[in-house]
Amino acid sequence: METDLLIGIDIGGTTVKNAIISNQGELITKWEIPTNLDNQGESVPKDIWSSIENKLSELNLKKERFAGMGVGAPGFIEPETGNVAIAVNIGWENFQLKDILEELSGLDVYVDNDANIAALGENWKGSGNQVENMLAVTLGTGVGGGIISNGKIVTGANGTGAEIGHITVEKGGAPCNCGRSGCLETVTSATGIVRQAEELIAEGKAISLKKRKDTNGAITTKDVFELAAEGDNDSKNLLQHVFDVLGFTLANVAITVNPAKIVIGGGVSKAGNELLEPLKKAFEKYTLPRTNEACEFVIAQLGNDAGVYGGAYLVLQNS
Ligand code: ZN
Repeated sequence: METDLLIGIDIGGTTVKNAIISNQGELITKWEIPTNLDNQGESVPKDIWSSIENKLSELNLKKERFAGMGVGAPGFIEPETGNVAIAVNIGWENFQLKDILEELSGLDVYVDNDANIAALGENWKGSGNQVENMLAVTLGTGVGGGIISNGKIVTGANGTGAEIGHITVEKGGAPCNCGRSGCLETVTSATGIVRQAEELIAEGKAISLKKRKDTNGAITTKDVFELAAEGDNDSKNLLQHVFDVLGFTLANVAITVNPAKIVIGGGVSKAGNELLEPLKKAFEKYTLPRTNEACEFVIAQLGNDAGVYGGAYLVLQNS
């Protein structure tokens, strides 16, 4: 029997997103289940497969129609084996995710890092538009990175390829979740932007930011963007620093990858052109003119669905 359907799975620390998608990229259905973190996330694969089995019987779909399951998981994934070397959010260490899911389901399973998978999804059905070379950067609580090079995800020798968020941008900078300091993530994530705003307030420097904080009880990236748009110099300077550091880093990555597109996603990307325009200017300043010529900046389109599309595409690409 000819297979015509794919399963995409995106495992996060709170929920697992699942979807059934056709070979043409049409979303048949999607649903979420909670991620059970008890016993170091031991039951997660079982939970996933039993929810998929339920869905298949509910929709009266035969397992034989599926070419396989593609899974995005947080943390470092060994590309050859589909083992999760470490996923702090879930509690996995040397977790044989691919083997376990294959045994449960009897289907072929492909595993990669969640940010890489999201990049693949954006490139298939989102704003990447199926270019052969692209960079995807997610500016959220952290900074996620995914690289597609000559049509393939860059995973690297042991799963740390494309970890753009952990490129060192400030020697001796703020501490990072990875245990080091001064990573891109500490400056250009939503958390990083808020941290810098808080530092200015603590130094008694940013009157408008402080006022906003006193009124709302906290500062958000949205506040910083709003105040900058209203002409507040402290917010403008803070964001200019963020754009400069991000543009500088992406310029250097772009010289390695030569992308046709850089796709910016995550909460901070909601700023749209107020982010893209200054970011492009900074990028242009630090990259080769010819690299810049080939490269278009776009905002991600798929939001939280990028992972399940990417998982499905990983199956299509490998099966
Ligand atoms: Zn780091």
